[in-house]
Amino acid sequence: MKKIQMVDLKSQYDSIKEAVNSSIQEVLETNTYINGPQVHLFQKNLEDYLGVKHVIPCANGTDALQIAMMGLDLKPGDEVITADFTFAATVEVIALLQLTPVLVDVDIVNMNISIDALKKAITPKTKAIVPVHLFGRAANMEAIMRIAKEHNLYVIEDNAQAIGANCKFSDGTKKKAGTIGHVGATSFFPSKNLGAYGDGGAIFTNDDNLAHKLRGIVNHGMYVRYHHDVVGVNSRLDSIQAAVLNAKLPLLDQYNLARQNAARKYTAALDGHKNIIAPSICDICDCHVFHQYTLRIIDANRDGLMQHLLDKGIPCAIYYPIPLHAQKAYLDIRYKEEDFLITNQLVKEVISLPMHTELDDKQIQFITNSILEYLN
Ligand SMILES: *Cc1c(COP(=O)(O)O)cnc(C)c1O
Repeated sequence: MKKIQMVDLKSQYDSIKEAVNSSIQEVLETNTYINGPQVHLFQKNLEDYLGVKHVIPCANGTDALQIAMMGLDLKPGDEVITADFTFAATVEVIALLQLTPVLVDVDIVNMNISIDALKKAITPKTKAIVPVHLFGRAANMEAIMRIAKEHNLYVIEDNAQAIGANCKFSDGTKKKAGTIGHVGATSFFPSKNLGAYGDGGAIFTNDDNLAHKLRGIVNHGMYVRYHHDVVGVNSRLDSIQAAVLNAKLPLLDQYNLARQNAARKYTAALDGHKNIIAPSICDICDCHVFHQYTLRIIDANRDGLMQHLLDKGIPCAIYYPIPLHAQKAYLDIRYKEEDFLITNQLVKEVISLPMHTELDDKQIQFITNSILEYLN
C-alpha cells in the first residue's frame, strides 16, 4: 500500500507533470513574473468557471478576505458576525481592520454558522456577515442572504475551503459558493481544493463598482499610475502560481469528484457505528467538496483514536481544537459560554481523516478498518 498522507500533492503532481511544467516554462521563457498574461488568463478562466463577473487575483486567502472588507464601506467599530468554528484568518482580518468581530455558534449538522445564532447576534451596529463554507460544505446561503437583505448587511463569503461547491436554492437554482454574497474570497494555498505551488488567493464579485475599487486596493490604491486615491495594499498572484492554476483549474471538478468519491467510501464504511457521526453525502447536489472529511466521535476517546491512527501511520488532525471565542486574541467580555455550546462540543468530537484526490481503495479500507478496530 502506498504511504498514506493527509494531502498527497506529490502523486497529484506526477499525474499532471507535463501540463504544469509547460505552463510554468512559458512564464520562464517570457520573463513576465508579475502581472504576466498567465494571471489575466487565470482571471478569465476562473470567472468563466464560477459564473461570476469579476475575479480579482491576489496574494493569499487572508489578503483576499481583508481586501474584500476594505472594499466595503465599513468603519471602525462596525460589527461583523462570523462563525466561532473556523480558521483564525476569518476573524483576524475583521479585527485588523478595527471592525468588531462578533463570533456566533455553528450548526451541529453542517458545522457552518448557525442561522438562529446569527439572527440573535444582529444589533444596530451590525454591518456585515462572513459565512465560512467550512470543510468544503456550503453554508445555508439562502437563509443568510434573506437575513442580510432584511437588515441591510453585507455578506462576505469565506470560500477558502469550498471552491467548486454549489449552493442550492429553493427555486431549484444552483450557484457556486463564493459568488452569492456581495463579495467572496478564496485561497489557493497548496492543500486547498484548487491549490497553487505557493501562496495565492482571489476575490469574486458581480458588482462592477466594487470590482473596480478592489482592483485599486490590491495595487496600492492606484487607479491611475502613481495616483493613490485610497489606502491600498500590495497583494499579487504571481505569474508562476497563475500558470500552475491554469493547468489545474480544468481538473477542479474531477478533483472535487475524487474527494466526494473518497468521502462516500469513508461514510459507507463508518456511518451507523454507535460512536461515529460521519458527514452525510448529498447525491443530488455538489454542496460539499470535502476539503476535509471530518468525523464526530461520540462517547469514545477521540484523542485515543487519533493516537491509534498515528501509531498505524495514518495521519489525521483536529480542525479546530480551540473555538475562536476562547482564543486569547479574540476574547470579548460579551461572550458567554452558553452561547457556544455547539462549538465547544465540536472541538472535543471532531477528527479529520486523510482527504485528497489520490486516495485509493486500499488506503481508505486500511483507515476505516483501523478506526473500527479501535472503537470496536
Ligand atoms: C486557508 C484559509 C484561509 C486563508 O487562506 P491563506 O491563503 O492561507 O491566507 C482563510 N479562511 C479559511 C477558512 C481557510 O481555510
